[in-house]
Amino acid sequence: MYKIAVLPGDGIGPEIVPEAIKVLEAVSRLYDIEFQYTEALIGGAAIDKRGQALPPETLELCYQSDAVLLGSVGGPKWDTLPAEKRPETAALLPLRKKLGLYANLRPAYLFAPLAEASPLKKEVVSGTDLLIVRELTGGLYFGEKKREKTATGEVAYDTMVYTTEEIERIVRLAFTIARQRRRHLTSVDKANVLTSSRLWRDTVERLKNEYPDVTVTHMYVDNCAMQLVRRPDQFDVIVTENTFGDILSDQASVLTGSLGMIPSASIGGRVALYEPAGGSAPDIAGQQKANPLAMILSAAMMLKYSFKLDQAAAAVESAVDRVLAEGYRTQDIYSPGTKVVGTAAMGDLVRQELERETRWKKS
Ligand code: NAD
Repeated sequence: MYKIAVLPGDGIGPEIVPEAIKVLEAVSRLYDIEFQYTEALIGGAAIDKRGQALPPETLELCYQSDAVLLGSVGGPKWDTLPAEKRPETAALLPLRKKLGLYANLRPAYLFAPLAEASPLKKEVVSGTDLLIVRELTGGLYFGEKKREKTATGEVAYDTMVYTTEEIERIVRLAFTIARQRRRHLTSVDKANVLTSSRLWRDTVERLKNEYPDVTVTHMYVDNCAMQLVRRPDQFDVIVTENTFGDILSDQASVLTGSLGMIPSASIGGRVALYEPAGGSAPDIAGQQKANPLAMILSAAMMLKYSFKLDQAAAAVESAVDRVLAEGYRTQDIYSPGTKVVGTAAMGDLVRQELERETRWKKS
């Protein structure tokens, strides 16, 4: 039995998390595995009910679980709070740090039926299958920061700090993952300007001798942003620091049709965290318009990385592929000639397809 901490959070979180659980319940029946779900508050919902974004009981539940499934946090209602109390800074960042989750894996895989959904040309996005390995507990988001008054106005700064150890562990992980894929690693930095990037690049250069079967390319982040939308098929695994990874992974979502298609896994500690790459999407929250596929695919990553249920994970991914091939779409991935369905209906379709295919294979 696997214990899963379920944190729906804010915005579309409470709409998409139940769809992932629907699919996990089908996995449970089909593969004879038991999942135990315990729900807890996080983000703005926790601020409203408990007065803080990451209540101690939520953190304790995460420590006691085998994996964490998170919807999303944040929204306009809490945007005016001081930075240290806002859902993202007071819940997400400390949760990742306390669970020791130093690596965020964000695959950008284009399901073939969605080639028309990207605003980019079909011939550009076809064949996109890359994975961004983003450092998650260092860099600008965690370095010293300050904002204070001066005689003429204000001064503010954030600090991008990295140690050799922090760079080594994420780069080693990226090399290991590259070995399980097409054996090409692109290390992204800004070594022409930033000192922390020069340490990053030197570290990658040193470590690459231990992985002679993996080819390595160094790329500046500005060039990488351009190459991602020019020729995405040149990438296999991209490894980069926290801020660059945050930005590049949202950009990569355009290749897959929508942010609603990108799952993520944050790993590195005993308990890993799975969440969609997108945020709480306040513009569509509460309207059954959100795409639940990133959340469902995040649950598939949980099956694979936390529970080593590779077959079940692959079955969920192929159920998603078939639902898309049958022409079903949420609004964000709609293209002419396809059928628009709501959040819960999309979850039902994936569950039904998973049940049909798995029963057929077993019979
Ligand atoms: P966002 O990712 O929430 O939304 C950006 C755009 O993508 C919106 O148009 C939204 O409708 C769309 N989108 C995102 N997920 C979608 C889905 N599953 N289906 C369909 N469309 C989807 O980013 P934002 O607007 O910059 O931020 C909104 C809030 O979310 C902010 O408070 C932000 O801080 C927070 N946020 C949270 C996380 C997180 O919980 N990990 C990540 C990013 C942003």
